[in-house]
Amino acid sequence: DNRLSKRVNEMETSATLAMAAKTRELKDQGIDIIGLSLGEPDFTIPEYIKESAIQAIKDDYHSYTPVDGYGDLKQAIITKFKRDNNLTYKPSQIIISTGAKQSLANLTMVLLNDGDEVLLPAPYWVSYADQCKVAGGVPKEIPTTIETDFKVTAEALEEAITPNTKLIIYSSPCNPSGSVYSEKELRKLADVLVKYPDIIIISDEIYEHINFTGKHFSMAQFEDMYDRTVVVNGVSKAFAMTGWRIGYIGGPEWIARACNKMQGQVTSGANCIAQRATITALENPPSKIQFMVDAFKERRRIILDLLSEIKGFKTNEPEGAFYVFPDVSAFFGKTLRGKNINTASDFSLYLLEEARVATVTGEAFGDPNCIRLSYAASEKEIREAIKRIKEALDQ
Ligand code: PLP
Repeated sequence: DNRLSKRVNEMETSATLAMAAKTRELKDQGIDIIGLSLGEPDFTIPEYIKESAIQAIKDDYHSYTPVDGYGDLKQAIITKFKRDNNLTYKPSQIIISTGAKQSLANLTMVLLNDGDEVLLPAPYWVSYADQCKVAGGVPKEIPTTIETDFKVTAEALEEAITPNTKLIIYSSPCNPSGSVYSEKELRKLADVLVKYPDIIIISDEIYEHINFTGKHFSMAQFEDMYDRTVVVNGVSKAFAMTGWRIGYIGGPEWIARACNKMQGQVTSGANCIAQRATITALENPPSKIQFMVDAFKERRRIILDLLSEIKGFKTNEPEGAFYVFPDVSAFFGKTLRGKNINTASDFSLYLLEEARVATVTGEAFGDPNCIRLSYAASEKEIREAIKRIKEALDQ
């Protein structure tokens, strides 16, 4: 529609949200769909967090908050960064936003000029590329393969850098691949980045706690990277608080100040009740949510076992988050039940129509050979979904 801006016309609709909408639509028609498309824990919010939100309402929290978030929430975030990551921040380095998605959008808006290049080790989270484009940046994918566990190598990183490179954005644990970068692997990337001091690193650590290796490491923990790394985190995944919309950053003061300015013109401060509840969520030790991590670990085992029985699926062992990202390219060029499968999108659509299982095409994550399945679903749903997929593939 040319009445709309070029900006929005050139933007992709979020593939994960589009699949979720399609799933809802089919469910509303009475069709029994199993949704493995959304990255959303199926747990309810821990009781002590809910209580603190109720208390905040009773305590009459209702006003606009400071644009960058409540001071005592900043303190709780500072304590969390110290406790979990051994990172030291001042309040002026912390900005609280309406979800990590807004934290990321702020960053691209304040850092990118037209034509600035953004390195995205692929597969990457669905919104990075479009957020960059809206801000005038040019996403540059760095492809990886299942053989390197979908992790970018130092050589590939260095090769992708040009004089126009402004940012690198990645998540660890990674959505969609579940890969976790170790300290050693990050150091190798840091050794390349030290040679290019103008590149800023955006480290998306929203899956920090959903890590089955038990070892989370942040690029910002390297002394020579601290001043140029922005850590993005939030409460959506670890605390099952997706709808409460709280995310935050810790980073260089000059960047935080700019995010504050941007947010002040776009949304103002994040929801006041959710900010109060986030204080409680972060003040409690991660051991309180370990039961969710344990459950995800068990479901990962189940889904990997079941997927290994499907011929044509090639899957690595994800070490974190709650996704598997099988390579399904073995099906490309085939005709199943009269339907031609040439791309991951065709395959994902086929599974929706023939298996009644919602997945997301890897094309949305910059990897055209794979599809993403979320195992943030009940064991019963996972078992039924994989059974249906197998049947739909006539296996
Ligand atoms: N970053 C990654 C890697 C994600 O998977 C998500 C959510 O799916 C987000 C950021 C956004 O999270 P939030 O709910 O805090 O906006």
